[in-house]
Amino acid sequence: MTEFDYDLFVIGAGSGGVRAARIAAQNGAKVAIAEEHRVGGTCVIRGCVPKKLMVYASQFSEHFEDAAGFGWTVPEATFDWRTLIANKDHEIDRLNAIYIRNLTNSGVDLIMSRAQVEGPHTVRIAMEERTVTARVILIATGGTPWLDTELPGIEHVITSNEVFYLKEQPRRVIVAGGGYIAVEFAGIFNGLGSETTLVYRGGEILRGFDNELRASLRKEMEKKGVQFVFNDIFTKIEKTEAGLLATMRSGETLEADAILFATGRWPATEGLGLDAAGVAMNERGAVIVDHEGRTSVPSIYAVGDVTDRINLTPVAIREGHAFADTVFGNRPVKVDHTLVPTAVFSQPELGTVGLTQEEALEVYDQVDVYSTSFRPTLHTLSGRDERMFMKVLVDAETDRVLGVHLMGHGAGELIQVLGIAVKMGATKADFDATVAVHPTAAEELVTMRSPTHQLRREAA
Ligand code: NDP
Repeated sequence: MTEFDYDLFVIGAGSGGVRAARIAAQNGAKVAIAEEHRVGGTCVIRGCVPKKLMVYASQFSEHFEDAAGFGWTVPEATFDWRTLIANKDHEIDRLNAIYIRNLTNSGVDLIMSRAQVEGPHTVRIAMEERTVTARVILIATGGTPWLDTELPGIEHVITSNEVFYLKEQPRRVIVAGGGYIAVEFAGIFNGLGSETTLVYRGGEILRGFDNELRASLRKEMEKKGVQFVFNDIFTKIEKTEAGLLATMRSGETLEADAILFATGRWPATEGLGLDAAGVAMNERGAVIVDHEGRTSVPSIYAVGDVTDRINLTPVAIREGHAFADTVFGNRPVKVDHTLVPTAVFSQPELGTVGLTQEEALEVYDQVDVYSTSFRPTLHTLSGRDERMFMKVLVDAETDRVLGVHLMGHGAGELIQVLGIAVKMGATKADFDATVAVHPTAAEELVTMRSPTHQLRREAA
């Protein structure tokens, strides 16, 4: 008999928690996992996966239009929101069932309840009014959409939690925020035919991304019909007979049938009992962890968005896996958080890895920029005025590729592969030595011979 009910108790069955639970169980640990919503977490249930399905749905309107240039006559297409949502729900149910099956097949006890930490080794199962003990507790509760609760009328808006379940397609949509979710959903609604306005407090979307990439995407989104309101914020939102009326600080008013707030996500630690258990958190409520994922309480660990480091599913999965191998597999693994490739499923799509031009210039004295913007072959016949953009940043002293930034069809797929080269420390000479694949858009990446700009930092 061990001293505890479990070797590991995981709170949160999302990407990071599920991976940690399964690997720990495979390593011989007795594991339980608690989930208050649905197994699979944000990414599978109301994030990346359903979002990607909706991105696909929204792209058909352009495919139908583009077909004409290739000789096709497409009858007037109509779109049915309810069919999309029902089919999407069906697929999410299927994935949810797979996640549950994988957990139970690994021997993990699944507890469908909210769980709270009561002490270094004790967890309260809220719905069953009992406590269990575990040698190690893992916090993997992810994040939750942040809303400005001071804003009058905030109760009328929806977040990414609700957007996947709207009964009807809103005819007019306002998206608030300029980050990943705002940009992706502006593209989805616009593609599906909703009149779409993105409202952002700053001057350009996607702060933190390469500036040229941000501007290129915004221009393409404008061409597709998305309207932008920059440097403005909401002062109130009212329900009217015509829908919702948003009043802005500038005095401008906007009408919509739905307002989606995508103003960031915060670590989901509220009410988890972490304070009382002595787990240190930062000012955003993120659990502070060391390189192994250990919190200030030695028996409590945390992985994924709740730690607010790089809030991406594959990173949470890595952290969960590394935790389980380190703590239960006797194989210490350190997660490398550098050069993480990422995609934004905007329309057109973005893919990026490494430093932005702005970041590169802060670190390196001599940066060569190889960039190109061109009309992809598809659009020579479709006639669509859409550009593809590529930028490769190179340290002129060592020839090492510092960052790659892409906009266009397949950018997400491309950056996954390019990420390998950049992670391996590829030089521009390695890119040049690679024979092009013709005819592709990606061949531009290995055929840009001369720098577009040679940026040199003045000696101090
Ligand atoms: P982001 O952090 O990407 O963007 C939040 C946006 O909200 C920013 O534009 C921010 O502005 C704005 N904002 C924040 N606070 C306020 C405020 N008080 N008033 C007005 N605007 C505000 O968050 P998202 O919600 O878009 O996405 C959450 C996370 O989910 C992302 O960080 C990402 O890691 C992940 N994600 C990843 C995806 C992918 O990999 N493709 C897809 C979707 C989400 P400012 O820039 O000025 O701070």
